[in-house]
Amino acid sequence: MNIIIFGPPGAGKGTQSKYLVKKINGFQVSSGDLLRDEINKDSEIGKMIINDMNDGKFVSDDIVNKLIKKFIFDPQKKNKLIFDGYPRSLKQAKNLNLLLDDADQKIDFIFFLNVNKETILKRIEKRKILEKRSDDELNTTLARYDTYMETTKPVLDFYSKNPNFHEIDGGLEIDEISTKIVSFINV
Ligand code: AMP
Repeated sequence: MNIIIFGPPGAGKGTQSKYLVKKINGFQVSSGDLLRDEINKDSEIGKMIINDMNDGKFVSDDIVNKLIKKFIFDPQKKNKLIFDGYPRSLKQAKNLNLLLDDADQKIDFIFFLNVNKETILKRIEKRKILEKRSDDELNTTLARYDTYMETTKPVLDFYSKNPNFHEIDGGLEIDEISTKIVSFINV
């Protein structure tokens, strides 16, 4: 089964994805982690994206789509993909559909973790202390939230028509969110 965990920064996508990795023996596909890896490796892509990432702006669809592709065509990961933070634009969502079609796969569940700005700001303040992420500064957080709202709304509209789309209150406790997800996927 392939799952998309969707929601604004700080909604708990990473936490729930890691939970699902264990639960269904899946593979987390975190576009944010893949992009941070490129920066840490100081690769050509890393050099191209570091400023946008630090400013809380979206990285170009072409770069993100390229990084995602190899996961979709990896036979060991087939039908075990948990997308975390991808897709984030309509172009990415359409690209994902095409790639999955080509790989004879589909999306089985889309979970939208809905949280308000206040909760997100509180969580990101906490994460800043725990994980020391360079894009977790307050201004970056606000920029990331605004970018999300502008760019990701069409993705939400695109997926919310899907019968496998489920909105979950992302303000709930971690365990409560996990329980809700599991009740839908029925494992
Ligand atoms: P995340 O770890 O998912 O919160 O992502 C951190 C940052 O990586 C975002 O603020 C964007 O700059 C970039 N990023 C992650 N995923 C994507 C994506 N699917 N499309 C464009 N930019 C992304």
